[in-house]
Amino acid sequence: MPEKGWYSLTVRKNTADKVRELAKNEDLTVDGYLNQLMDKKQNNTTSYNTLVKCKKCGAMVKSENMEKHMGKHAKAAKKKRR
Ligand SMILES: [Zn+2]
Repeated sequence: MPEKGWYSLTVRKNTADKVRELAKNEDLTVDGYLNQLMDKKQNNTTSYNTLVKCKKCGAMVKSENMEKHMGKHAKAAKKKRR
């Protein structure tokens, strides 16, 4: 069983091998790599200047400002942890 807050997914072995290799190439964990992919996809599909809902706090943020906005969350999370 994975530890709390984690979930194991079943994927084809060649998918697992590929995603592991790709993540390793970018010096990321598989989890980190998949999140990066999803973030990239989201950035590509939201057109410039449209409002998007923040996944963390639910605020409506201009897509062009989302990266900055998420940066604030990242900083806040780091402060909480330490
Ligand atoms: Zn937010």
